[in-house]
Amino acid sequence: MLVQKFGGSSLADLDSFLAASEIISKAAKKEKTVVVLSAMYGITDLLEGAISTAVEGGDFRAGLDAINQAEKEILDAAEKAGLDCPKTGTYSKIQHQRLASRLEGIALLEQCPVDVQAEILSMGEGFSSRLMSELLQAQGHDALWSDTDVLPPANDSYSDSLVDVEAAAPLLHQACDGVHNILVLPGFYGVNQQGKPQLMGRNGSDYSATSAAAALNARSCEIWKDVDGFFTADPRVVASARCLDEVSYEEAMELSFFGAKVISAKALTPLMNAGIPCEIRN
Ligand code: ASP
Ligand code: MG
Repeated sequence: MLVQKFGGSSLADLDSFLAASEIISKAAKKEKTVVVLSAMYGITDLLEGAISTAVEGGDFRAGLDAINQAEKEILDAAEKAGLDCPKTGTYSKIQHQRLASRLEGIALLEQCPVDVQAEILSMGEGFSSRLMSELLQAQGHDALWSDTDVLPPANDSYSDSLVDVEAAAPLLHQACDGVHNILVLPGFYGVNQQGKPQLMGRNGSDYSATSAAAALNARSCEIWKDVDGFFTADPRVVASARCLDEVSYEEAMELSFFGAKVISAKALTPLMNAGIPCEIRN
């Protein structure tokens, strides 16, 4: 079993979704593959901005329209490419009505309750993961989408929650048991027993992926992003910096403590506990 995670910068437009889907389908030919996705590039920031604007009594419509536009553009491009995604289109329309009414409520209250904030911010991953699974299906792959009630939260934080890896294990195994060789999950949130999303913190999709890998005792957890891996120094500052072939969990945590944004210590913990390797892939 393999877990693959794709970040927002790898999910900017239809071309990048299709490039990711090719990587996924190649992997799934060899072993069952669980795919964890971030939101499309910039969407979480737009959602967060719309909430702040609504709290401040500003016009949140522009943010709403930008999200609508981005989702419509990619759905139209998919349709043009002969990869129609009707279920994701319906989901997107329903979510927009929901988002608009939540933002109207927030504007009236002049504040946003934490559970509503989590519900809104999780919408980006809700969309990208459904889109990826439908794109894979449209290309003839045996992909199944699941919500993250298979990654139950271990505490009651709506903004920085942990995954109950032990409780996730049977749920994820069951979700993977069917005929499908690809399971697609939204990153960034787990669904609690009340059916509400709890966020794992900004950039939390890595942690979703590593928790899923630990729960499944996966062979490896691949994190696909726009960098090659850990460098000896920040390559934007130090020209002679070189990419390290391999680092220990402790070294990776230390590097991230000193500012390397490759992967967080929180995300590394489930892999370290389970002894599962993490591969950073560009
Ligand atoms: N979309 C979320 C964020 O931007 C989670 C993630 O990308 O990992 O923080
Ligand atoms: Mg992100």
